[in-house]
Parts: sequence; C-alpha cells; structure tokens
Amino acid sequence: MELPAISLPEFVPGWVWLVGAGPGDPALLTLAAMHALRAADVVVYDALVDPRILALANPDAEQIYAGKRGGRPSPKQPDISARLVQLARAGHRVLRLKGGDPFVFGRGGEEALALVAAGIPFRVVPGITAATGGLAYAGIPVTHRDVNTAVTFVTGHNVKGDVPDDLDWTALARGAPVLVFYMALKHLDEIAARLIGGGRDANEPAAIVTSATTGEQQVIETTLGAAPSRAHEVTPPALFVVGEVVRLRAGLDWFGALSGRVLDADPLDLHTDRDAG
Ligand code: SAH
Repeated sequence: MELPAISLPEFVPGWVWLVGAGPGDPALLTLAAMHALRAADVVVYDALVDPRILALANPDAEQIYAGKRGGRPSPKQPDISARLVQLARAGHRVLRLKGGDPFVFGRGGEEALALVAAGIPFRVVPGITAATGGLAYAGIPVTHRDVNTAVTFVTGHNVKGDVPDDLDWTALARGAPVLVFYMALKHLDEIAARLIGGGRDANEPAAIVTSATTGEQQVIETTLGAAPSRAHEVTPPALFVVGEVVRLRAGLDWFGALSGRVLDADPLDLHTDRDAG
C-alpha cells in the first residue's frame, strides 16, 4: 500500500515516537502510525499490539517486547522508560507502540515524562482507543442522542491491581448514563456490586466485549447484575460497558451482520408509534 501524498513528519534519528496502534484491526492504524512502522529502527511494543500490526514494521527493524501482563514476568515501567532513553541516545528512531491510544490507560504520559527528564525529543501519535473503536465494532455507540449526553471511561484496576478506591463510586454510578470500564474482567463482581450499591439498576443493559475488532471478537449482552456470572466465559482483553446504548446493538451490530445477523431498525423502541397515526 502506498501512503497518500500528504506531508507526514520526518522520523528523525534519536527521537522517540509514542504511537497508538488502535484496538487490534490493522485497518484502524493512523497514517502517522503506518509511517512510523515503516521508518522506525526499533519497535518497542506492548502485549496488546496485534501481531498483524508488528508484521507491517520495516523488516530490518529490531522488535523488543515490553509487555506488561498480569501473571507473567514483565519489565518494570522504569526499565522500559530507561530502555527508550538508551535506544534514542544510541541514535535510533524509536517507535514505542502501544495498544489503543498511548494516553488512555496506557502509561504513555509516564514514558513521555521520562523522555522529557532525559532531554529526548518525542512525538505522540494518538490511536483509536478500545472504548470507542472496540465498542463501535460491537455495534455499541458510546453516545446516542436519545440515550446519553455523557460517557465515562474508568479503569477496573489501579496500579496495585485492585478496583480503584480513590473513586467516588456513588458519584460514578449516578454521574453518567454510560460507563465504559477498561481492565474490568478480573474484578467484575466488585465493580457491579459497587455500582449497584451506588444506586445503579441491576437490570440495566451491559455488555462484555473481548478482543474487539479482531477475528476473535466476542460480545456478551447481559445486565449489570448478571454480568459477573458471565465473566468466566471470556478471556481478556475485555471492555465492560453499562448503559442503555447496549440495546442499540440489536440494530447496529454491523460486524455480526457480516456473518448473517439480522438487524433491527428500531432497537430502542422509540418509533413504534411512528406509522400508527
Ligand atoms: N491504551 C489502550 C488501553 C490499555 S489498557 C487503549 O487506549 O485502548 C488495556 C485494556 O484495554 C484491556 O484490559 C481492555 O480493557 C482494553 N482493550 C484494549 N484492546 C481491546 C480489545 N481489542 N478488545 C477489548 N478490550 C480491549
């Protein structure tokens, strides 16, 4: 594929580019990300970066795995940052490739600050984050005019791996009609309990979406109260979404329609009277 003739920034040796790879499907890469893959000398990538995306890198580029995944031995964050600094100082074009968007629950800010402290020049290339891109492939818009005027993104675990307790869960439960949780699978029971305890209806529609945008994508449509009992059916990476927008999936599951699902033009039953009078 030829990149279009638009002006793309030069990847200068000694620079680090912090690049979002999107949720999985390589077609969701930005042009800047594609350009960086072609130009980089070294690619330092995370566990969530799809192998099909790594395959697009310049074949001469060195690929370094810096995945951080629960349960597996993984490099410590300061070591990753130090490695980026070292590679840049050695004069390489360093592509730091992260799943989704580097600045959304991706520690991109921490790495960028380490580069600033070391005097290394850098650029940030945003990516499509899982909450918007992944849910779009699940047929769930994160906002819909008839349903919600706000959406909240939440991480299901903090730096220690626990459900964040610096959050006001009652405020969260009442704050936005649509909540999207990253890294939520492990603590789904506690998350659901805290939201219901904060006043959220246990019967509210919810969905667990795993490996979104890939061939392994799975979507479980359920309710807030029943979701924890379904968590064992799937493996990470998973998003958990709570809100009436989940019902739109009956009409908007375009990805499922590719394999024959029949779509409903009025999934919210908003216009049932339209033809009556
Ligand atoms: N920076 C990333 C998020 C990293 S945190 C972004 O912007 O998307 C990792 C979490 O992202 C996972 O635990 C999961 O909740 C979510 N995630 C990333 N890719 C996903 C995918 N393809 N399907 C479902 N969830 C995904």
